[in-house]
Amino acid sequence: MNLPIDTLGRPLHDLRISVTDRCNFRCTYCMPKEVFGRDYQFLPREQLLSFEEITRLTGIFTSLGVRKVRLTGGEPLMRRDLPELVRKLGVTPGVEDLALTTNGSFPVENIARLKEAGLKRMTVSLDALDEAVFKAMNDVDFPVAAVLDWIAASAAAGLGPVKVNMVVKRGVNDQEILPMARYMRQHGHILRLIEFMDVGSTNGWRMDDVVSAKQIFQTIHAKLPLEPLQPNYRGEVAERYRYADGAGEVGIIASVSQPFCGDCTRARLSADGKLFTCLFAVQGADLRQLLREGASDEELRTAIAGVWSRRTDRYSELRSRQSKNPVKVEMSYIGG
Ligand code: SAM
Ligand code: SF4
Ligand code: SF4
Repeated sequence: MNLPIDTLGRPLHDLRISVTDRCNFRCTYCMPKEVFGRDYQFLPREQLLSFEEITRLTGIFTSLGVRKVRLTGGEPLMRRDLPELVRKLGVTPGVEDLALTTNGSFPVENIARLKEAGLKRMTVSLDALDEAVFKAMNDVDFPVAAVLDWIAASAAAGLGPVKVNMVVKRGVNDQEILPMARYMRQHGHILRLIEFMDVGSTNGWRMDDVVSAKQIFQTIHAKLPLEPLQPNYRGEVAERYRYADGAGEVGIIASVSQPFCGDCTRARLSADGKLFTCLFAVQGADLRQLLREGASDEELRTAIAGVWSRRTDRYSELRSRQSKNPVKVEMSYIGG
């Protein structure tokens, strides 16, 4: 089968797999407590794809062009035996890169198991070095030091350079941009500053809360001069810079102010097996149903290729032209 290309000429290259919609954090920009409270109905276990189902689908995705796989969620470490899934995916033909995005809140002993199972790279989310600011963002009183330990242990285990994701929210953690930049470069990690996005429908997003990539760049550049770097590959979302003194690299992800839909080669698989072709989607294609009805690999391949070839998504490019906001699925469900 020819590799599918969507209606805007984009190939399918990356797959983000959400392994759970649950999380032990309640980051205000992702799973605000008021919505994700005690009564919130997460997916029941039988609705989650099993590791075998995820692995089978991944093999089909690689036959359609996927080379990079990222495990995410929710918090992926909430899924028991995650290294087992890593092991299965690591030996799936076509998977050239296998990465994990985590909040870094689990015991560091997990890292060696993940590495040994075949994980290649670690991305860790951390929004501030200041204790009070971080706690205000994760909203469960989680301490900074534990996440820093996770980052350091990941680098020591050979899963680096570790990328550290920081969502910047105006008036909440923008004063942390410089301290984070200094700390991460000093320790050899790559900080990636992310514009606060209007994912989902519950995080109370307002344009006024977004610190633009340009402002983020200026904040760092004024104190630590930066020089642009070339993208590593088509579809790389971060604008990359190196520090002019030669020590270290930083990325800025301008999903709101300078959308990169034209190069978006990512598919997303939700924890319950729906295929989404945009982070801002309203609906996904139900691959779990096909799987559990006994579809053959060929039938699944045809279904996935069909979804991808019909793909028209470019939400971020059209954002400013939207008259009313659609009810989008949540990031914790679809996988960030
Ligand atoms: N729980 C893991 C973590 O936090 O790293 C993985 C899932 S999380 C949804 C993936 C990434 O999405 C995190 O780096 C998080 O900061 C980012 N994210 C969540 N909500 C966001 C928003 N509204 N705008 C920008 N990034 C967001
Ligand atoms: Fe959990 Fe990650 Fe969302 Fe924070 S960003 S609530 S850690 S899924
Ligand atoms: Fe890709 Fe959708 Fe984001 Fe555009 S808005 S870059 S299509 S995920």
